[in-house]
Amino acid sequence: MTQRVFNFSPGPATLPEEVLRRAAQEMLDWHGSGMSVMEMSHRGKEFVAIHAHAERLLRDLLGVPEHYKVLFLQGGAIGENAIVPMNLLRGHASVDIVDTGEWSLKTIQETRKYAHVNIAASSAAKRYTCIPPRQGWRLDPDAAYVHICSNETIGGVQYHFTPDVGAVPLVADMSSDFMSRPIDVSKFGLIYAGAQKNLGPAGVTIVIVREDLLGHALPITPSAFDYGLQAQADSMLNTPPTWAIYMVGLVLDWIQDQGGLAAMERRNKEKAGLLYQYLEGNRFYANPVAPADRSLMNVPFTLRDPALDDAFLKGAQAAGLVQLKGHRSVGGMRASIYNAMSLEGVSALVAYMKGFEARHG
Ligand SMILES: *Cc1c(COP(=O)(O)O)cnc(C)c1O
Repeated sequence: MTQRVFNFSPGPATLPEEVLRRAAQEMLDWHGSGMSVMEMSHRGKEFVAIHAHAERLLRDLLGVPEHYKVLFLQGGAIGENAIVPMNLLRGHASVDIVDTGEWSLKTIQETRKYAHVNIAASSAAKRYTCIPPRQGWRLDPDAAYVHICSNETIGGVQYHFTPDVGAVPLVADMSSDFMSRPIDVSKFGLIYAGAQKNLGPAGVTIVIVREDLLGHALPITPSAFDYGLQAQADSMLNTPPTWAIYMVGLVLDWIQDQGGLAAMERRNKEKAGLLYQYLEGNRFYANPVAPADRSLMNVPFTLRDPALDDAFLKGAQAAGLVQLKGHRSVGGMRASIYNAMSLEGVSALVAYMKGFEARHG
């Protein structure tokens, strides 16, 4: 008998059980092909169909306009921190970046290898507990693009609006909230996301890019990371991460079965609401994030007495609630509650927290 835990890992993260079961069923023989998807040629008709299915479903669920390309690449979001400037500078000298926490800082560091970075706004002085209000941003009309991180996975801070940045393309690292809610893709020049938070296993990075931004890569850009070349080759300039793309397709099937992105968002709000409601006004636990900017995906919280952290984590583990330790830079706890985390899992966590408070508060 398989014993599944409630896994609150920030990533790689929990996947829907139905998806894992289907992958297991199809493992040795995909649809009568006599092969595992892992064993297929990426250019064969079976895999070409798997790839096309994943792209079609992603476009349908998210409403990606026709003049955007969807690419399935390798390198992860950290790779994209270099790949984006290599492709998108287009003769401009500088990039505007909004600094909202650890992941923005990584983007800033990496972008500086390729361009001048203007930090258009920062919540550093507020210890990264909020999104800087749009009216205070100092944007440069000559910037190549404006970069944001839509959900700071470590700090638990999320944009609940899409900033208007005028004619300059808006670029978003959506690694930890991609496909968790509907978005208007037409407001972005480029979106990227690693799959391992909300969408599948590690190994594939999804890039959605407006066509007019293609074809300007710096000459030093590796061909495998040249969006224009990859778009021309249907993301098959090099061997794509075939298994990961197949798994993303299964997760997208699951999202569709759940009712699509509006239904995902409703569920995610319900789950996060349960945790935040309990944390609100609680004297034993605390969450530092401004209520308007709280993440629906990653909920950091601290115990009033950090000496109890180990006991909290041990007890949680024994109750089948795992990977709750907060990031080393923040301390405390963090519950990552992506699409695939059930309401049941979040309820079990809140019940455990209440019990722990009753015993130690
Ligand atoms: C996880 C994460 C990354 C890093 O992704 P890699 O796959 O390790 O490159 C970058 N940005 C955000 C917002 C993340 O959550």
